[in-house]
Amino acid sequence: MNTSTSFEALPLAAPLQRALRAKNYTHPSPIQEQAIPVLLEGRDLLGAAQTGTGKTAAFALPILQNIHENPARPERHRMRALVLTPTRELAVQVAKSFTDYGAHMKVTVETVYGGVSMSRQITAMKRGVDVLVATPGRLLDLRNQGEVDFGGVEFFVLDEADRMLDMGFINDIRKIIGELPARRQSLFFSATLSPEINELAHEILNNPAEIRLSPKVTTAEKIDHQLCYVGQENKLSLLQHLLNEQQDRGGRQLTLVFTRTKFRADKVAKALGREGFRAEAIHGNKTQAARQRALESFRKGRSPILVATDVAARGIDVKDVSLVVNFDMPDEPESYVHRIGRTARGGAAGTALTFCSEDNLKELMAVERLIKTEIPVYANHEFHIEKLGHIRTMAAKMTNGRGRNGSRPSFKKDRDRDRDGQNQARPGRSRSRFGKGGYQASPYSSDRPSFRDRGPKQDDTAAAPKARDFQNRPKRKPSRKIPTAVRNNGQPLAR
Ligand code: AMP
Repeated sequence: MNTSTSFEALPLAAPLQRALRAKNYTHPSPIQEQAIPVLLEGRDLLGAAQTGTGKTAAFALPILQNIHENPARPERHRMRALVLTPTRELAVQVAKSFTDYGAHMKVTVETVYGGVSMSRQITAMKRGVDVLVATPGRLLDLRNQGEVDFGGVEFFVLDEADRMLDMGFINDIRKIIGELPARRQSLFFSATLSPEINELAHEILNNPAEIRLSPKVTTAEKIDHQLCYVGQENKLSLLQHLLNEQQDRGGRQLTLVFTRTKFRADKVAKALGREGFRAEAIHGNKTQAARQRALESFRKGRSPILVATDVAARGIDVKDVSLVVNFDMPDEPESYVHRIGRTARGGAAGTALTFCSEDNLKELMAVERLIKTEIPVYANHEFHIEKLGHIRTMAAKMTNGRGRNGSRPSFKKDRDRDRDGQNQARPGRSRSRFGKGGYQASPYSSDRPSFRDRGPKQDDTAAAPKARDFQNRPKRKPSRKIPTAVRNNGQPLAR
């Protein structure tokens, strides 16, 4: 979604305008509209934005504008602009953008990354370059061999900082920053801004302008997303139950499962593997090649379940992901939107289910505040804990001071209702405790095979069952067939 300002209204030189016309860019994206003027003033920038927002042009255009206005021959072994990226793929992509936007001006752009011969990179660095796009490891190798000197850096960009940290580049980054000239313009981009990321940003930046692109709330509204109240100890069993349902439905069914840590991603993938599901984990501790392989298996349906951490899943753009499971709540509320946006791509059907245990309620409320939507509850599974709904309602009331009808919160009323079992989920219905109409029909209800059409109705008063023993359950035979796409029976996805 681009802005109403045209590129011609921005103070960019004629060669850049010409390149933009050649690429058919007419209007800047929101991050470009906000970042370009700030960067042209020479300010540092902290940008919370992910790939796909047009952030590369947001930093490349002002850097190229500066180089165009102040042409200078780069010194040997030096670069005027240094862009650090976490992966070789991103380095190539960013360098291509610089080359495309700078096609009608005099600028040299080079890449430095591992896994290829050093000789071309050394030759390039001996001459010196205007723009160098590099991954940290190889860059430091060249620096240690005396082929790279950071003394001439005027513009420093750290791209996808959160992914850098997830991939363990923090020490390399600190070493490089330590050698940069103090007088420079620094730009820092990250999809998420955790406290750790913020700390690093403030080590690098000097009085930065801040641009935060709030996630597109509409994404969340288009997807059938529901909440499962479940104890931590039952999350694996619930996941397995959902996957069985998913597989029974046949067709091409790709499932993406999000966990909070790399350790948990491995653990969940292994547990599913033991049960006969074809699942792989993808996270920052895996090599780039292993991640690429896992992604390819997933894309082709050979391994139709992918268990991922947030950062590793960033680049996953796979069609036909029919189910996203938030096994753990995201650390950052913004990640919820990124995660569930992995399903229902290109207008396909998609469901996102979020597991919420008692210790996740605070995170759930943060997500709902952000997306301005109360996620409906999917209660018809044997691990449902109705009590969590009441705790959540009470917490919301305490936060708001008063209940929905203006009354003071009454714990007693809710406790009694719980005991009376009046809040039971009804089969074929999604119990949205927040929606105006109380019970809400769900696109997952009567017309299509549903999670909640199966199994006995749960009694609220019954305690949730104990965790099932994964080891002792009968093994499911891995299915060889690669499922085909499933239609949504004409049911609307939008709520
Ligand atoms: P990025 O977020 O930088 O990876 O860019 C995402 C995609 O959007 C790339 O394919 C860019 O070529 C494209 N793009 C960036 N800015 C614009 C724009 N203003 N108008 C049209 N396409 C754009």
